Amino acid sequence: MNNSVPKYSGRVLTIAGLDPSGGAGLLADIKTISALGGFGCGVATALTVQNTVGVEGVEPVSTALIIEQLNSVLDDIDISAIKLGMLYDENIIIAISSALNAMAKKYLLVLDPVIKSSSGKSLLSDNGVTHLREKLLPLTTLITPNIFEAETLTGMKIKTQAQMQTAAKKLCEMGVENAFITGGHLDGDKAIDVLYGAEVEHVFEEKKLDAANSHGTGCALSSAIATYLSQGDKMLDACTKAKKYVYEAIRTAPNIGAGNGPINHGVKP
Ligand code: PLP
Repeated sequence: MNNSVPKYSGRVLTIAGLDPSGGAGLLADIKTISALGGFGCGVATALTVQNTVGVEGVEPVSTALIIEQLNSVLDDIDISAIKLGMLYDENIIIAISSALNAMAKKYLLVLDPVIKSSSGKSLLSDNGVTHLREKLLPLTTLITPNIFEAETLTGMKIKTQAQMQTAAKKLCEMGVENAFITGGHLDGDKAIDVLYGAEVEHVFEEKKLDAANSHGTGCALSSAIATYLSQGDKMLDACTKAKKYVYEAIRTAPNIGAGNGPINHGVKP
Protein backbone atom coordinates (compact mmCIF):
# COMPACT_ATOMS: atom_id res chain seq x y z
CA MET A 1 0.00 0.00 0.00
CA ASN A 2 1.23 3.50 -0.81
CA ASN A 3 1.02 5.53 2.39
CA SER A 4 2.46 8.75 0.99
CA VAL A 5 0.73 11.93 2.14
CA PRO A 6 -1.63 13.28 -0.54
CA LYS A 7 -0.75 16.70 -1.91
CA TYR A 8 -3.80 18.95 -2.16
CA SER A 9 -3.69 22.16 -4.12
CA GLY A 10 -6.20 24.69 -2.84
CA ARG A 11 -8.50 24.37 0.16
CA VAL A 12 -12.04 25.20 -0.83
CA LEU A 13 -14.98 25.61 1.52
CA THR A 14 -18.46 25.19 0.04
CA ILE A 15 -21.40 26.69 1.92
CA ALA A 16 -24.40 25.02 0.32
CA GLY A 17 -27.51 22.89 0.60
CA LEU A 18 -27.33 19.12 0.86
CA ASP A 19 -28.79 17.08 -2.00
CA PRO A 20 -28.75 13.50 -0.66
CA SER A 21 -28.72 12.08 -4.19
CA GLY A 22 -25.26 13.62 -4.66
CA GLY A 23 -25.90 15.35 -7.98
CA ALA A 24 -26.02 18.96 -6.78
CA GLY A 25 -25.20 21.02 -3.71
CA LEU A 26 -22.63 20.29 -1.05
CA LEU A 27 -21.88 16.65 -1.89
CA ALA A 28 -21.44 17.41 -5.59
CA ASP A 29 -19.25 20.43 -4.81
CA ILE A 30 -16.91 18.26 -2.75
CA LYS A 31 -16.68 15.74 -5.63
CA THR A 32 -15.73 18.53 -8.04
CA ILE A 33 -13.16 20.09 -5.70
CA SER A 34 -11.59 16.65 -5.12
CA ALA A 35 -11.53 15.78 -8.84
CA LEU A 36 -9.56 18.97 -9.52
CA GLY A 37 -6.98 18.28 -6.79
CA GLY A 38 -8.33 20.58 -4.10
CA PHE A 39 -9.24 19.78 -0.49
CA GLY A 40 -12.97 20.34 0.06
CA CYS A 41 -14.73 21.40 3.27
CA GLY A 42 -18.50 21.88 3.54
CA VAL A 43 -20.94 23.90 5.65
CA ALA A 44 -24.56 22.77 5.25
CA THR A 45 -27.16 25.56 4.98
CA ALA A 46 -30.20 23.36 4.39
CA LEU A 47 -31.13 19.71 4.01
CA THR A 48 -33.16 18.92 0.94
CA VAL A 49 -35.19 15.83 0.17
CA GLN A 50 -34.45 15.18 -3.48
CA ASN A 51 -33.32 12.77 -6.13
CA THR A 52 -32.81 12.98 -9.89
CA VAL A 53 -36.58 13.33 -10.42
CA GLY A 54 -37.06 16.44 -8.28
CA VAL A 55 -36.97 18.23 -4.94
CA GLU A 56 -39.66 17.06 -2.49
CA GLY A 57 -38.72 19.03 0.60
CA VAL A 58 -36.31 21.52 2.15
CA GLU A 59 -35.49 22.28 5.77
CA PRO A 60 -32.97 24.97 6.73
CA VAL A 61 -30.22 24.47 9.29
CA SER A 62 -30.43 27.06 12.12
CA THR A 63 -28.34 30.18 11.52
CA ALA A 64 -26.54 29.57 14.83
CA LEU A 65 -25.46 26.11 13.71
CA ILE A 66 -24.40 27.38 10.26
CA ILE A 67 -22.16 30.03 11.82
CA GLU A 68 -20.74 27.49 14.31
CA GLN A 69 -19.87 25.19 11.38
CA LEU A 70 -18.31 28.11 9.50
CA ASN A 71 -16.20 29.31 12.44
CA SER A 72 -15.13 25.78 13.30
CA VAL A 73 -13.71 25.23 9.81
CA LEU A 74 -12.20 28.69 9.35
CA ASP A 75 -10.62 28.74 12.83
CA ASP A 76 -8.73 25.56 12.06
CA ILE A 77 -8.15 25.29 8.31
CA ASP A 78 -6.43 27.83 6.08
CA ILE A 79 -9.17 28.09 3.45
CA SER A 80 -8.11 29.64 0.14
CA ALA A 81 -11.53 30.12 -1.48
CA ILE A 82 -15.19 29.97 -0.44
CA LYS A 83 -18.00 28.90 -2.75
CA LEU A 84 -21.55 29.90 -1.79
CA GLY A 85 -24.49 27.92 -3.18
CA MET A 86 -28.03 27.43 -1.92
CA LEU A 87 -28.67 29.86 0.97
CA TYR A 88 -32.43 29.28 1.49
CA ASP A 89 -33.51 32.63 3.00
CA GLU A 90 -32.57 36.12 4.21
CA ASN A 91 -31.76 34.99 7.76
CA ILE A 92 -29.01 32.69 6.49
CA ILE A 93 -27.71 35.36 4.11
CA ILE A 94 -27.61 38.00 6.87
CA ALA A 95 -25.83 35.60 9.27
CA ILE A 96 -23.20 34.52 6.73
CA SER A 97 -22.53 38.01 5.33
CA SER A 98 -22.21 39.48 8.84
CA ALA A 99 -19.81 36.70 9.86
CA LEU A 100 -17.67 37.16 6.73
CA ASN A 101 -17.69 40.95 7.13
CA ALA A 102 -16.48 40.66 10.72
CA MET A 103 -13.49 38.49 9.79
CA ALA A 104 -10.05 40.02 9.46
CA LYS A 105 -9.24 37.80 6.47
CA LYS A 106 -11.01 38.66 3.22
CA TYR A 107 -11.80 35.49 1.32
CA LEU A 108 -11.89 34.87 -2.39
CA LEU A 109 -15.62 34.31 -2.78
CA VAL A 110 -17.46 32.60 -5.64
CA LEU A 111 -21.25 32.99 -5.46
CA ASP A 112 -23.60 30.66 -7.34
CA PRO A 113 -26.89 32.51 -6.74
CA VAL A 114 -29.13 29.44 -6.50
CA ILE A 115 -32.79 30.57 -6.67
CA LYS A 116 -34.71 27.50 -7.83
CA SER A 117 -34.03 23.94 -8.93
CA SER A 118 -34.30 22.97 -12.59
CA SER A 119 -37.42 21.01 -11.60
CA GLY A 120 -38.97 24.32 -10.44
CA LYS A 121 -38.72 24.12 -6.62
CA SER A 122 -37.86 27.42 -4.91
CA LEU A 123 -34.50 27.21 -3.11
CA LEU A 124 -34.33 30.89 -2.07
CA SER A 125 -37.09 33.10 -0.62
CA ASP A 126 -38.06 36.41 -2.31
CA ASN A 127 -36.59 38.34 0.62
CA GLY A 128 -33.51 36.19 0.25
CA VAL A 129 -33.02 37.54 -3.29
CA THR A 130 -33.16 41.13 -1.99
CA HIS A 131 -30.66 40.41 0.78
CA LEU A 132 -28.38 38.47 -1.52
CA ARG A 133 -28.26 41.57 -3.73
CA GLU A 134 -27.61 43.98 -0.88
CA LYS A 135 -25.46 41.99 1.52
CA LEU A 136 -23.56 39.41 -0.51
CA LEU A 137 -22.82 41.01 -3.87
CA PRO A 138 -20.40 43.54 -2.33
CA LEU A 139 -18.38 40.65 -0.83
CA THR A 140 -18.28 38.61 -4.03
CA THR A 141 -15.18 38.04 -6.16
CA LEU A 142 -17.16 36.22 -8.86
CA ILE A 143 -20.88 35.57 -9.35
CA THR A 144 -21.95 32.74 -11.69
CA PRO A 145 -25.67 33.15 -12.53
CA ASN A 146 -27.54 31.41 -15.32
CA ILE A 147 -29.91 33.53 -17.43
CA PHE A 148 -32.87 33.19 -15.04
CA GLU A 149 -30.73 34.10 -12.01
CA ALA A 150 -29.15 37.06 -13.84
CA GLU A 151 -32.63 38.29 -14.85
CA THR A 152 -33.90 37.98 -11.28
CA LEU A 153 -30.92 39.82 -9.79
CA THR A 154 -30.76 42.64 -12.36
CA GLY A 155 -34.49 42.97 -13.10
CA MET A 156 -33.79 42.93 -16.85
CA LYS A 157 -34.95 40.52 -19.58
CA ILE A 158 -32.07 38.65 -21.23
CA LYS A 159 -32.58 37.21 -24.71
CA THR A 160 -29.34 38.12 -26.53
CA GLN A 161 -25.57 38.11 -26.05
CA ALA A 162 -25.60 41.92 -25.86
CA GLN A 163 -28.16 41.77 -23.05
CA MET A 164 -26.00 39.19 -21.24
CA GLN A 165 -23.08 41.64 -21.43
CA THR A 166 -25.24 44.50 -20.14
CA ALA A 167 -26.46 42.31 -17.26
CA ALA A 168 -22.88 41.31 -16.36
CA LYS A 169 -21.87 44.98 -16.23
CA LYS A 170 -24.93 45.75 -14.13
CA LEU A 171 -23.97 43.02 -11.63
CA CYS A 172 -20.51 44.61 -11.33
CA GLU A 173 -22.15 48.00 -10.72
CA MET A 174 -24.14 46.28 -7.97
CA GLY A 175 -20.90 45.41 -6.18
CA VAL A 176 -19.40 42.14 -7.46
CA GLU A 177 -15.87 42.19 -8.86
CA ASN A 178 -16.59 39.80 -11.74
CA ALA A 179 -19.70 38.27 -13.31
CA PHE A 180 -19.81 35.07 -15.37
CA ILE A 181 -23.28 34.60 -16.91
CA THR A 182 -23.94 31.20 -18.45
CA GLY A 183 -26.25 31.27 -21.45
CA GLY A 184 -26.95 27.58 -21.96
CA HIS A 185 -30.68 28.27 -21.59
CA LEU A 186 -30.81 30.92 -24.35
CA ASP A 187 -32.44 29.97 -27.69
CA GLY A 188 -30.15 28.94 -30.54
CA ASP A 189 -27.61 26.18 -31.24
CA LYS A 190 -24.67 28.04 -29.65
CA ALA A 191 -23.89 28.08 -25.94
CA ILE A 192 -22.79 31.63 -25.09
CA ASP A 193 -21.22 32.54 -21.75
CA VAL A 194 -20.13 36.04 -20.81
CA LEU A 195 -17.37 36.97 -18.36
CA TYR A 196 -17.02 40.60 -17.31
CA GLY A 197 -14.99 42.30 -14.60
CA ALA A 198 -12.59 45.11 -13.82
CA GLU A 199 -9.68 43.32 -15.50
CA VAL A 200 -11.40 40.93 -17.88
CA GLU A 201 -14.00 40.85 -20.63
CA HIS A 202 -14.59 37.68 -22.61
CA VAL A 203 -17.33 35.89 -24.56
CA PHE A 204 -17.22 32.09 -24.74
CA GLU A 205 -19.03 30.52 -27.66
CA GLU A 206 -19.39 26.84 -28.45
CA LYS A 207 -21.81 24.32 -29.84
CA LYS A 208 -24.56 23.37 -27.38
CA LEU A 209 -24.24 19.90 -25.89
CA ASP A 210 -27.37 17.80 -26.09
CA ALA A 211 -27.36 16.93 -22.39
CA ALA A 212 -29.62 14.14 -21.16
CA ASN A 213 -28.17 14.53 -17.64
CA SER A 214 -27.39 18.02 -16.35
CA HIS A 215 -28.46 18.05 -12.69
CA GLY A 216 -26.14 20.27 -10.68
CA THR A 217 -24.07 21.71 -13.55
CA GLY A 218 -24.21 25.20 -11.99
CA CYS A 219 -22.87 23.81 -8.71
CA ALA A 220 -20.03 22.03 -10.53
CA LEU A 221 -19.09 25.12 -12.55
CA SER A 222 -18.84 27.44 -9.55
CA SER A 223 -16.96 24.85 -7.47
CA ALA A 224 -14.52 24.22 -10.31
CA ILE A 225 -13.86 27.95 -10.75
CA ALA A 226 -13.36 28.35 -6.98
CA THR A 227 -10.89 25.46 -7.00
CA TYR A 228 -8.88 26.80 -9.94
CA LEU A 229 -8.82 30.32 -8.45
CA SER A 230 -7.64 28.86 -5.13
CA GLN A 231 -4.83 27.14 -7.04
CA GLY A 232 -3.65 30.51 -8.34
CA ASP A 233 -5.27 30.72 -11.77
CA LYS A 234 -6.28 34.12 -13.14
CA MET A 235 -10.04 34.71 -13.59
CA LEU A 236 -10.16 34.00 -17.35
CA ASP A 237 -8.02 30.85 -17.06
CA ALA A 238 -10.08 29.57 -14.10
CA CYS A 239 -13.35 30.06 -16.02
CA THR A 240 -11.95 28.53 -19.23
CA LYS A 241 -10.66 25.44 -17.39
CA ALA A 242 -13.86 25.09 -15.34
CA LYS A 243 -15.99 25.23 -18.50
CA LYS A 244 -13.88 22.48 -20.06
CA TYR A 245 -14.25 20.32 -16.93
CA VAL A 246 -18.04 20.77 -16.84
CA TYR A 247 -18.32 20.11 -20.60
CA GLU A 248 -16.44 16.81 -20.20
CA ALA A 249 -18.46 15.93 -17.08
CA ILE A 250 -21.73 16.47 -19.00
CA ARG A 251 -20.46 14.62 -22.08
CA THR A 252 -19.49 11.56 -20.02
CA ALA A 253 -22.43 11.71 -17.57
CA PRO A 254 -23.36 8.34 -16.11
CA ASN A 255 -26.97 7.23 -16.33
CA ILE A 256 -27.88 7.36 -12.66
CA GLY A 257 -31.48 7.66 -11.46
CA ALA A 258 -34.76 7.86 -13.34
CA GLY A 259 -34.78 11.64 -13.90
CA ASN A 260 -32.31 14.40 -14.80
CA GLY A 261 -29.19 12.59 -13.63
CA PRO A 262 -25.85 13.82 -12.29
CA ILE A 263 -22.82 14.69 -14.38
CA ASN A 264 -19.54 12.79 -14.19
CA HIS A 265 -17.92 14.77 -11.38
CA GLY A 266 -14.86 12.51 -11.28
CA VAL A 267 -13.84 13.19 -14.89
CA LYS A 268 -10.20 14.26 -15.30
CA PRO A 269 -10.17 17.35 -17.54
N1 PLP B 1 -30.29 21.29 -4.66
C1 PLP B 1 -29.27 21.94 -4.12
C2 PLP B 1 -28.94 21.67 -2.70
C3 PLP B 1 -28.54 22.83 -4.88
O1 PLP B 1 -27.52 23.50 -4.32
C4 PLP B 1 -28.86 23.03 -6.22
C5 PLP B 1 -28.00 23.90 -6.99
O2 PLP B 1 -28.26 24.66 -7.79
C6 PLP B 1 -29.94 22.38 -6.76
C7 PLP B 1 -30.62 21.50 -5.95
C8 PLP B 1 -30.39 22.62 -8.13
O3 PLP B 1 -29.80 21.78 -9.02
P1 PLP B 1 -30.49 21.71 -10.44
O4 PLP B 1 -30.44 23.08 -11.01
O5 PLP B 1 -29.66 20.80 -11.22
O6 PLP B 1 -31.90 21.25 -10.24
